[in-house]
Amino acid sequence: MPLAPGDKTAIALWLAAARYLDGEACLIEEDKVLNAHQAAFAAVNAEALTAKTAITSEKEVAAYLLRVGQDIRQRDATNERFTEFCDELRRLASVLADGNGDGSTCGTGAPIKTCQSGILEVARLVELRVRDLLYAAGISVPEDLLISYVTALTKNGHSCLPFKVSGSADIAAPVRIVDIVIVDGQLSARDVLDIAYILHHELTCHAFQACQSTQKLANAPAKCHWTEGWMDTLAFDATTGWIDVGPAAWVPLQGEMGKGEIWDFHDFRYRAPPYLLPSDLTRRRGAREAFRRLQQIFEEDMAFPAEEARKHAERFSWIANTHAEANSLRLRLLATRLSTLLRNKSRPDVGIKAARDCLAFTAHRNLSRLERELPE
Ligand SMILES: [Zn+2]
Repeated sequence: MPLAPGDKTAIALWLAAARYLDGEACLIEEDKVLNAHQAAFAAVNAEALTAKTAITSEKEVAAYLLRVGQDIRQRDATNERFTEFCDELRRLASVLADGNGDGSTCGTGAPIKTCQSGILEVARLVELRVRDLLYAAGISVPEDLLISYVTALTKNGHSCLPFKVSGSADIAAPVRIVDIVIVDGQLSARDVLDIAYILHHELTCHAFQACQSTQKLANAPAKCHWTEGWMDTLAFDATTGWIDVGPAAWVPLQGEMGKGEIWDFHDFRYRAPPYLLPSDLTRRRGAREAFRRLQQIFEEDMAFPAEEARKHAERFSWIANTHAEANSLRLRLLATRLSTLLRNKSRPDVGIKAARDCLAFTAHRNLSRLERELPE
């Protein structure tokens, strides 16, 4: 459901507070300053809750944001984070134009100026990043491929537990869609990183899947271990990299603090995700392990430097996932075979042969040939 003016104001306030005021994000040691941040954080939450019902039209949004920003700044004009928060709300007041923040943000044909509410701003940054990774892997994304984002608030956070955000993608629709669902309420710096993970996951694993195909596609089911295990491991690596290279405004927890959160979010999907049969969970774990094994064989048995080994494994994965003949069933079968072959402990030569076939595929790019040449 599109965001109403009150909801979009509330999300803007919760995201800005999470990024600039959450005490954990500010590395504050002094109790007095920490208390001031916590008080400001709570005050913004109260303002967001009020906004949900008090704001009923677009034209009230900007003035509300400007006033909240000023109120926080006036609490302590010497506090740099308060000033940054105020500046951010001033910027948001000018970009939360008419509209609900849903729509496309990259690619030919995407509107140049759209309402930046919800997650559209960070979605654009992550999508540009994923498109760069695809380009670096030698994959040309069709010019007319657009991804449309939809942000929704939910009161029932079951689909997100134990976190506060979740996502899904639909590639069966004429315009590919990424849905982000946020639990209705205050957000933390950790939640902001979880949003970055969700976006990397939806874009890496789903949104560009079989993007070179002209066939009508089906969405990968939740049990698909290629999409949710193998490709998700690429998404994890990309999000971990985001902690190092992403814009500071969207990486509120830096270094190991940020990477630890990304790991927790990622690993939960392999420990106790709801609605997954034990056998599907085992396949998901196996696919993650097999992707790591491919990197390891490239490095240890084929003598590539570590960085090059990682790039080869990623390149193979991007090419397979976006392939013109790919679909989720075929990719799932590929993941099953690779999981068995690459993790064969008693016959390591089988894994090495499979890794060589994967490497050859990055040059010939013939999916049928790869399937034929992989050891039985
Ligand atoms: Zn997924």
